[in-house]
Amino acid sequence: MSQVSSGRMQVLLASPRSFCAGVERAVNIVEHLLAERGGPIYVRRQIVHNTHVVADLQDRGAVFVDELDAVPDGATVVLSAHGAAPAVRAEAVRRGLNVVDGTCPLVAKVHSEAARFVARGDTVVLIGHSGHDEIEGVLGEADPGRIVLIESAADVAELHVADPGRVSYLTQTTLAVDETAAVIEALRARFPALQGPRSDDICYATTNRQRAVTAIAAECELMLVVGSRNSSNSLRLVEVAKRCGTPAWLIEDVGDLVPETLAELDVIGLTAGASAPPHLVDDVLAELGRRRDVTVTQYEVARETVRFAPPADLAR
Ligand code: SF4
Repeated sequence: MSQVSSGRMQVLLASPRSFCAGVERAVNIVEHLLAERGGPIYVRRQIVHNTHVVADLQDRGAVFVDELDAVPDGATVVLSAHGAAPAVRAEAVRRGLNVVDGTCPLVAKVHSEAARFVARGDTVVLIGHSGHDEIEGVLGEADPGRIVLIESAADVAELHVADPGRVSYLTQTTLAVDETAAVIEALRARFPALQGPRSDDICYATTNRQRAVTAIAAECELMLVVGSRNSSNSLRLVEVAKRCGTPAWLIEDVGDLVPETLAELDVIGLTAGASAPPHLVDDVLAELGRRRDVTVTQYEVARETVRFAPPADLAR
């Protein structure tokens, strides 16, 4: 815990917050390619779910596409941190594209678990949010019906599986830890032989950011979460704060602050999702400091030392 200045509004700064190792790796890959080869560098889907990161890379020559058919033959294409289905990789090979894999190694772990569980004959229940890029990729690891998506404990009763004795589960990496535990419990109650991954799929960065919010939420009148609206882990931070009884706002950047509301508050919490750059938090602190006499107190619940190596073809 470190005290930075003194004043009449208290800002409790959650730590860890902002970029995780998987996001840093993915963004560094695109930056490295732009510096080494120049633009355009194609990226399938948003490299990470943050509008500032995407706009910045776009300005420097990155071209974001929804699917590979928008990538010219022979071009370089980066797969986003959220991963891609095997069919997408196969299509890239068929097209002769130069693929650089930005998939977070912790998302890649979920893919390999899905493939392993399906290969041994299990029906895999994937806990996650429909339509998210990560979920779309993992569902693509098997034929429809071999991996089935559920979003909540209420969905467990509706599941149809070929053999109740051969069911395993996996989770999206950015879910709420507490809610997911309840879903797994419901699955285990219905399928007592349920198997799971060797270690949790909800990643260290998601877990730490939620723990940090939980640690400070009860003391705050409002929690500000910096992140984009399509950022799963940022949305989960808002929900975690609300479940602690604290109102929470998701803000894209300092422009979303509502000065009139902030003028009435004495204690606010501040955090940022794993895809939100740290400078966006600095901007919010600077703006609060311009408007109020601010004391910033940082609460650190974990020290993150995780780093992921770049892809081998980039490390040379
Ligand atoms: Fe990887 Fe977790 Fe970061 Fe997602 S939030 S990119 S799974 S470290």
